Amino acid sequence: MRDRTSVTVRAAAKINLHLGVGRVREDGFHPLDTVYQAISLYDDVTVSVDDADHLSVAGAAHLDLDEIPTDGSNIAVRALAEAPCDVRHHLRISKEIPVAGGMAGGSADAAAALLAHDRLHGLAQPDDVLLAQAARLGSDVPFSLVGGTARGVGRGELVTPVEDEGSWWWVAVPSAAGLSTPAVYRHFDVLRPDAPAEPASAEPLLAALATGEPLRVARALHNDLQEPAIDLRPELGDLIARGEAEGALRGIVSGSGPTVVFLCDSADGARATAAGLVGAGYAVALTATGPVAGAHVLA
Ligand code: ATP
Repeated sequence: MRDRTSVTVRAAAKINLHLGVGRVREDGFHPLDTVYQAISLYDDVTVSVDDADHLSVAGAAHLDLDEIPTDGSNIAVRALAEAPCDVRHHLRISKEIPVAGGMAGGSADAAAALLAHDRLHGLAQPDDVLLAQAARLGSDVPFSLVGGTARGVGRGELVTPVEDEGSWWWVAVPSAAGLSTPAVYRHFDVLRPDAPAEPASAEPLLAALATGEPLRVARALHNDLQEPAIDLRPELGDLIARGEAEGALRGIVSGSGPTVVFLCDSADGARATAAGLVGAGYAVALTATGPVAGAHVLA
């Protein structure tokens, strides 16, 4: 065991540049073809050796921290159980990623907890072992470990990094109340009973990404969960229209929503769009850039 009593790992929010969703399978899962990007909104997870297991959660005032379970159902706590040991831990989660926002905040915390626990105890488990543990915890957790820009297939858990030379600027607008991911998928099933078994291919988005041109990427953004998310929350459609009117190249629901992300042509463009949205009455508009690194230890 290393002479360390505490390790902090930072993990990023994800957005889906492409989210193709196929017809629900008999096992209840939807086949996906998705392109993830990690963007610069972060949760930090600190794992320390302690006398008893406990969890504390802190974060920015606009986050709905009451939504986060503080018992064994917290996905970061479940992550620690992936590598059982006799030691007791204090888990501290410092949140910046919107809760239940379609940005995989819980998945980021799980990936961070997995890595922090591994490094705290000097386990140095190989990447494929950590990725397998991550996939057992949730479909988005492997990507939270890998970061950058990556294609995800299967349930999204089979992740392959994608070459992405771009530096993309985003504005993320969270909603005051979250949306349940399973509820959005159920609504997709209602609205799209004829959805093809094969999800829409990510190839057009990948081709656009390779050009490095924001406008081409903006046009190629695709999310099959946008229609059910907007049907459940019609105001998201107004938000997308408003952000585009404020200068964004394109707005799209992030994953299962309700966070909406806007691709902008530059850092200045993102700042102007965010300022315009705040001026229009949206309480929080966060600028972020991507791609950024996956889960990593902070010095
Ligand atoms: P995804 O896009 O991966 O489905 P999300 O970003 O929409 O997820 P999360 O922030 O991961 O949503 O939260 C989904 C639910 O998971 C919350 O409503 C909460 O009850 C539960 N949860 C469990 N652990 C955590 C955690 N560490 N942080 C946030 N939510 C958590």
